[in-house]
Amino acid sequence: MKVDILGCNVDRIGMNETLQKIEEFIQSGKPHHIITLNAEIIYKAQSDSRLKEIINEADLVTPDGSGVVWASRYLNAPVPERVTGIDLTLRLAELAPKKGWTFYFYGGAPAVAEAAAENLQKKHKGLQVAGTCHGYISETEKQNLLANIRKKKPDILLVALGAPRQEFWIRDHQKNLQVPVCIGVGGSLDVISGRAKRAPVFFQKAGLEWLYRLMKEPHRIGRMTALPKFSLLVRLKGRRQ
Ligand code: UDP
Repeated sequence: MKVDILGCNVDRIGMNETLQKIEEFIQSGKPHHIITLNAEIIYKAQSDSRLKEIINEADLVTPDGSGVVWASRYLNAPVPERVTGIDLTLRLAELAPKKGWTFYFYGGAPAVAEAAAENLQKKHKGLQVAGTCHGYISETEKQNLLANIRKKKPDILLVALGAPRQEFWIRDHQKNLQVPVCIGVGGSLDVISGRAKRAPVFFQKAGLEWLYRLMKEPHRIGRMTALPKFSLLVRLKGRRQ
């Protein structure tokens, strides 16, 4: 079951069902693209048809962000809960040692992906991270990265280049890489590495994580103007779709 939000199809699933799907994807061995979709990206996709196409062709699109949850309710096709990139990463890290799944982390400033891997490995004994690479590498290094991922054959590749850069990157390389599960996780590795702080639970529960992020990173104000525009568009066009 999906909900169409401004032409972007979002799966109406919660965390447990997402994890089940991921297990199926890994068992199949074929490449799959998972997008944790927020209102900002849906708004961006209104003027970027390739992005919209990538979203609609992804194997799983989870509702990331309170804007998407609100829109799904407004359109009378509610999603059960938010499934964010960071929550998904944390749950996968918990499950991976039991299931024998291996990870590869790509993205973030130098040393962030390694620090995130170390932190998760301290918490979850037996967690295997086949490789890490930061997100500011040269063109030659990018070719080496692709070869290294193919060689290491991880089950799950987390790409933390920010949205939608990571979605384009996954789409461009997923066939060649043959990794069963590729997920764009935005700034999640920054938080897991300890470089950035996630909003306190109060903000998360109140659907105000965006406000906390804005307070911490005021330069995001330009990007955040997408949120009221998104809400207006859903009200204007949403019910007519
Ligand atoms: N980033 C990167 N390479 C780039 C541009 C960005 O690795 O060329 C990383 C950046 O270091 C940060 C993440 O991408 O860790 C972007 O995080 P942001 O919070 O902007 O993404 P969002 O969660 O909003 O998608």
